[in-house]
Amino acid sequence: MSQFDFAALVAPPIKPLTAYDPGYEPTEVKRALNLAALAELGSNESAYGPSPDVLTYLRNLPLEVTHRYPDAGGRVLKRALAAHYQLTPEHFTLGNGSHELLVLMAQTFASAQDAVVFSQYGFAVYALAAQASGARSVKVPATQQLAADPLAMVQAARRERAKIVYLANPNNPTGNYWDHSTLLAFMRELPSDTLMVLDEAYHEYADPALVPDGSRLLGEFPNLIVARTFSKAYGMAGLRVGYVMADPGLGLVLERTRLSFNVNQFALRAAAIALGDQSHISKAREANARARAALTEALETLPIRVLPSQGNFLLCDFARDAAPIEQALLKRGVLVRPMRGYGLPHMLRITIGQPWEQDMLVEALRALLA
Ligand SMILES: *Cc1c(COP(=O)(O)O)cnc(C)c1O
Repeated sequence: MSQFDFAALVAPPIKPLTAYDPGYEPTEVKRALNLAALAELGSNESAYGPSPDVLTYLRNLPLEVTHRYPDAGGRVLKRALAAHYQLTPEHFTLGNGSHELLVLMAQTFASAQDAVVFSQYGFAVYALAAQASGARSVKVPATQQLAADPLAMVQAARRERAKIVYLANPNNPTGNYWDHSTLLAFMRELPSDTLMVLDEAYHEYADPALVPDGSRLLGEFPNLIVARTFSKAYGMAGLRVGYVMADPGLGLVLERTRLSFNVNQFALRAAAIALGDQSHISKAREANARARAALTEALETLPIRVLPSQGNFLLCDFARDAAPIEQALLKRGVLVRPMRGYGLPHMLRITIGQPWEQDMLVEALRALLA
């Protein structure tokens, strides 16, 4: 029982803030519903897990250095990232997942006088980051296909003299993306003092022939900040490592706002090891693309509209309130993500899982929608 009204003392920008909805906790759900198996298709985690090299490292953790602080500069990982992208270590800032860095951008650059622009169905964290910083959120209406509208976004950024634009490419939860020429044209039209935070959490899953690589544009656009993570294709969501890459001037500023030991030493080392196994990433991309196509095909035999996706998830339109379907799936041991919070109550987001998980899902849906 709470005996003190902390909420009454909360700072003004935090008052209207609601917590990020992380979805169900799978272990809790399994226990509460007494399920033998649970298909965890709610959080866009990798169906393929981390590189075997990472697992080998984790099994032999050098536990005797637990009492030591990690390297606050994250040097080993930054050097590995620099080699991977052919950039310098100074181009990188590391975070406890990219979520932390996305929030840090607003905290560092936006205040009550500033506007932060994002798309109507953009990743939910952008609105929360803007709100927590006290900035004005400018939510730009999406296209008919639920995609970020480049023209409307650039117009909003100019009109509002935006401090930050957030865009996920590909986007979660919609799965859609801007192609190279759209992104390039957008960057050329964006005021040079507006920061473009390009969130490429799903980049490694996307078809490189379709979805651009933001890191290639850093030289041309010093106001571009590309965010990536080890949580998705690298299969390391539980270790919490993400990073942003940008002109080295960004890293110098973020050193003032970032918590100094924000990534733990084992996660830092594991991420550097993961980066060294690119064959694991290409295998994950190919397996995901195959599984995504197969699941799309299976779902389309049911009364479900599946939106095209370049991520490891599918946004599914049931053309009616999806809440009862989501609850019924849960009772059958299939965890998916409701989209009510995004204003899409007739949709569910379903992560690409292992074959047995996808079978469980399709079987359950077939029974429910019959
Ligand atoms: C999952 C996700 C992230 C990153 O999550 P972290 O685990 O904090 O790195 C960032 N952006 C989008 C769009 C995501 O879906």
